Amino acid sequence: MKKLIAGNWKMNGSLAANEALLQALQVGAATPWACNVVVCVPSVYLAQVQALSQGIAIGVGSQDVSQHESGAFTGEISAAMLRDLGVRYAIVGHSERRQYHGETDAVVALKAQRALAAGITPIVCVGETLAEREAGSTEEVVKRQLAAVIHVNGHCISEIVVAYEPVWAIGTGKTATPEQAQQVHAVLRAQLRAASAQADRVPLLYGGSMNAGNAAQLLGQPDIDGGLVGGASLKAPDFLSIIAAAV
Ligand code: PEP
Repeated sequence: MKKLIAGNWKMNGSLAANEALLQALQVGAATPWACNVVVCVPSVYLAQVQALSQGIAIGVGSQDVSQHESGAFTGEISAAMLRDLGVRYAIVGHSERRQYHGETDAVVALKAQRALAAGITPIVCVGETLAEREAGSTEEVVKRQLAAVIHVNGHCISEIVVAYEPVWAIGTGKTATPEQAQQVHAVLRAQLRAASAQADRVPLLYGGSMNAGNAAQLLGQPDIDGGLVGGASLKAPDFLSIIAAAV
């Protein structure tokens, strides 16, 4: 499978900064990339980034999607609206959404379902907190989070992307070792295989302080099919190095 590198800009950017970043990525894209590349940007910039990425091999994604279809949900953005803008991916269940916005496994599953129904690929994030890892419950936590999405009705599990993001590694500079990450990825792969004959088509991304220095080793693990990259996706040289490591 072709690897997938997805940038998560989080709540960063401006019209000018986005343009400069896309221009730098365009220069880097002059040498064709071996992997698929996506940037998940703040919703207000989706149209701008969609326009700027025309002609560059970069897909555009959102960082969230509403669990509701339409109607009186002030501030929410529906999957159909994202689709209208040509958005192809939506992160769902990022740990920052679970932690600060109270998103439960059930809500994450609804969001994944809305995305799929609109033809958008959900990038479903799972991952344990430090306390959960120290309590020895990493596997139980990620399996529970993935199970909620696997049982989404009416859609094939092979239509999703899964990102394993240990919460303790996100934005902290602490990366899971390649072995730690591979161990959890193998568990997730086995769970997907038990659920679907198409499981090997599901890209399993690692996320959590991936950077230019550690990407090659992480991406070299047998069950790591790509990366979900936060901080390093905002710096073109770093993001381009990670892309180059995804062979
Ligand atoms: C993320 O936000 O999904 C992430 C992995 O962030 P960082 O790379 O900054 O740890």
